[in-house]
Amino acid sequence: MLDADFFRRWLTTAAQAVDREAARLTELDSPIGDADHGSNLQRGFTAVAAVLEKEAPATPGAVLTLAGRQLISTVGGASGPLYGTLLRRAGKALGDDSEVDEARFAEALRTGVDAVAALGGAAPGDKTMLDALVPGVDALGTSFGAARDAAQEGALATTPMRARKGRASYLGERSVGHQDPGATSSALLFEALADAARG
Ligand code: ADP
Ligand code: MG
Ligand code: MG
Repeated sequence: MLDADFFRRWLTTAAQAVDREAARLTELDSPIGDADHGSNLQRGFTAVAAVLEKEAPATPGAVLTLAGRQLISTVGGASGPLYGTLLRRAGKALGDDSEVDEARFAEALRTGVDAVAALGGAAPGDKTMLDALVPGVDALGTSFGAARDAAQEGALATTPMRARKGRASYLGERSVGHQDPGATSSALLFEALADAARG
């Protein structure tokens, strides 16, 4: 079973991964964006780690909703409201149970991913974070490791895509040949999840 500690560990691990990879995320956002994805997420996840430490929410749902709210209020840019929605909606779906099993979490994260798609109007194939989030959550029913691998593959598969949403879509055909920064950070979130599950 997964408790509030597990979810805190996930997001703290994610904050460390974002810190480590911030320069690379910003670099990916430079040819097809405005070179701020790494700094956007670094600011957001630093604030998430801080508020989780300070408030120590007691349930999985409360951890995720608090983290989502924090991302929305600290990240300017498309990725803040999108990742914030992902976590808030997943948290809401978990209700106030003190522990949830993997299947319940996978279902809740699916609700979050669906909310991201609804908010951004994007679908897999549009060269966005959804290209990693959707395969990741699809594989979550199998294992955390399978989800990490699927999200990573999904992020790599954005390179030949032409962007249809977000800033990169302004470039049209010139967006082809670059890996999407948001799909790359989504893969990092699944990597952090697999790391947290290993303890
Ligand atoms: P901004 O583009 O506002 O500078 P970021 O650089 O932080 O924001 O995030 C860019 C990432 O957000 C993109 O690489 C893409 O994955 C994701 N993104 C942008 N628009 C959408 C959308 N409509 N739906 C899903 N993801 C999106
Ligand atoms: Mg950007
Ligand atoms: Mg920006």
